[in-house]
Amino acid sequence: MAKPTTLSAPKVGIVSLGCPKALVDSERIITRLRAEGYQIAPDYHGADLVLVNTCGFLDSARKESLDAIGEALNENGKVIVTGCLGAEKDVITREHPGVLAVTGPHQYEQVMEAVHTHLPAPDHPFVALVPDSGIRLTPRHYAYLKISEGCNNRCSFCIIPSLRGDLASRRIDAVLREAEQLRDAGVRELLVISQDTSAYGLDVRYAPYEWKGRLRETRFRDLCEGLGELGIWVRLHYVYPYPHVDDVIPMMADGRILPYLDIPFQHASANVLRAMRRPANEEKTLKRIEAWRRDVPDLAIRSSFIVGFPGETEEDFSRLLDWMSEAKIDRAGCFRYENVTGAASADLPGQVPEEVKDERWKRFMELQAQISDKRSRGMIGRTLDVIIDEVDDEGAVGRSKADAPEIDGTVFIDNGQQLKPGDIVRARITDADEYDLWGDI
Ligand code: SF4
Repeated sequence: MAKPTTLSAPKVGIVSLGCPKALVDSERIITRLRAEGYQIAPDYHGADLVLVNTCGFLDSARKESLDAIGEALNENGKVIVTGCLGAEKDVITREHPGVLAVTGPHQYEQVMEAVHTHLPAPDHPFVALVPDSGIRLTPRHYAYLKISEGCNNRCSFCIIPSLRGDLASRRIDAVLREAEQLRDAGVRELLVISQDTSAYGLDVRYAPYEWKGRLRETRFRDLCEGLGELGIWVRLHYVYPYPHVDDVIPMMADGRILPYLDIPFQHASANVLRAMRRPANEEKTLKRIEAWRRDVPDLAIRSSFIVGFPGETEEDFSRLLDWMSEAKIDRAGCFRYENVTGAASADLPGQVPEEVKDERWKRFMELQAQISDKRSRGMIGRTLDVIIDEVDDEGAVGRSKADAPEIDGTVFIDNGQQLKPGDIVRARITDADEYDLWGDI
């Protein structure tokens, strides 16, 4: 239902920085604001107040967040800050004493309180006019589904646990209900996100809840089974290669879950992994990946890696490159290590010079381009399912099952002018480069 508006409805502008998890937080805040009768302003000048949802992960992201707060203050003047950097109120108020309020990550109640204080809600809020599926910032045909907050791991380079706390899983029936509502609202692809998707439910001892006449445990396998029943694309992000991930491989083989795993490996050298305080069992992981690929030959693995971690030697780095070639990681993001204020790794000896980080980053990206190029060219002549993201006079742009939005490649369909976003079509692939494909329908 279209939401009625009034001339007097107070307007809130939103600046959303950071990762998909922060985007989900922004969506929840917007849903609450709209439910209370606020309007969302498209720019600073149309807004009575601006909310900045910040990221505090890397020092560069912190700087970007502080700059965004400064810009919002200059352009609008009334600014409330939330999100990861909001956990460090002093950092924000020292640089920007003019902000009205600062709240931390996923503190929805506090954000709403701050908004009420500085921009009262309309007298007669339009209740029940927000769709059940909430307000989403992603296009209508795909949506992020956040299954938990926080993380029980303590990777030495990461301050997310100190910002977002320990793992707190949402109950499985609530997650599946949200997923069903999203599907009913037209979503064709769900992207499951968290800090550690495979740890889902550990904190609540896998508590069971009834969903659709059956008891389901709050655990990774039951979640995937429930999502796999929805009949839409389900893509898993931030999964760790624990043995129980094997449980979803049959669901990928029979098409219930997309043959795609986003696994943030970060490195492959045992020395570096130990210094990162992450499990160092790359050999076992290689065997596991081989077994997965035997059962699901089209499985696409995306990962992220850090080069130039303190203490990383040339030998460690070569080990990483060899492992990448053996594991054939299809899509990879690579970050040059950056010290993060408050992270244990900032104090480690053996900090790697910037020029060495750059050189390793380039070698990593060259190898990754070769692996990706080989996979892409192997697709020529095949017919793939493609979900359409955009359509214009020149054709349609979509993604294969191996491509997540924003981070992976695209499929260009020159004769797809009649398609619409959210359509899933069969396209014959005619050309490819390292990251993108071209095809016809
Ligand atoms: S798994 Fe490690 S890197 Fe990821 S959020 Fe948890 S502590 Fe941070």
